[in-house]
Amino acid sequence: MFELPEYITLARQINETVAGKTIRSGALGNSPHKFVWYNRTHEEFAALTAGKTVGTAHVRGRWLFIPLEPGYVLLFGECGGKLLYHTPPAKLPEKYHLWLAFADGSALSALTQMWGAMELYEAGLEMERQYVKGMRPTPVEPDFTFDYFSALIAELLTGEKRSIKALLTQDQLIPGLGNAIAQDIMFRAGLHPRRPISDLSEAQQRTLYDAIRATVDAAIAGGGRYDEWDLYSRPGGYHRLLDNAAVGRPCPNCNTAIEKIQYLGGACYLCPRCQT
Ligand SMILES: [Zn+2]
Repeated sequence: MFELPEYITLARQINETVAGKTIRSGALGNSPHKFVWYNRTHEEFAALTAGKTVGTAHVRGRWLFIPLEPGYVLLFGECGGKLLYHTPPAKLPEKYHLWLAFADGSALSALTQMWGAMELYEAGLEMERQYVKGMRPTPVEPDFTFDYFSALIAELLTGEKRSIKALLTQDQLIPGLGNAIAQDIMFRAGLHPRRPISDLSEAQQRTLYDAIRATVDAAIAGGGRYDEWDLYSRPGGYHRLLDNAAVGRPCPNCNTAIEKIQYLGGACYLCPRCQT
């Protein structure tokens, strides 16, 4: 699944390569997929996209906003899979969930794995969508300060009990983070996924905050994770510190074997000595 660094990489590449192009024709998928969320019929999507121009894309959390001017915004949310640019003469792929063909013969295709939103809104209405409206600050935004982060933890302590992994991956508490990048954040912070957030000292909150910022920045600088593809169908340059390949191998800090546990709906990779 794309997380914040992969979406930021895709937006940058769309702005380099696709922005300013005029859409000759747009189509929703030929490949039925019950977990792709559309808000338009095939006919509406074709009629509303033809002749529009791609504006400057931007990202919030795991949502990618691509203006189709005048008047519309194409929204990709919580997708994985591939969002690809095709050089002219672009050929329609065998399977796709969304296709935009441009007047110059190039094209953009999207094919998600698992699930994802591919929706077209009248400009402004995309901000009313569930999960977009009221989104909390994301780690790359100026509002994501340590004071904000500390206040977020204090606010959560009044509700249900949460662990570090829950803080990082559930309910868009920190929008844009997901199970993949969370592993490296927890490793950098020296915190176990099951550790209750109520346990954290202020110094540990600071360490965790710094780990979030450092990991997100490193993944953005690398152009996203190596296990996802960018707009040009290349793997990202950010290699995860802890992933399936690390299991049983020595921890980079202390040489203890890395372990895998199942927790909160997914695998966690951790050093049982460094992460407590
Ligand atoms: Zn270790």
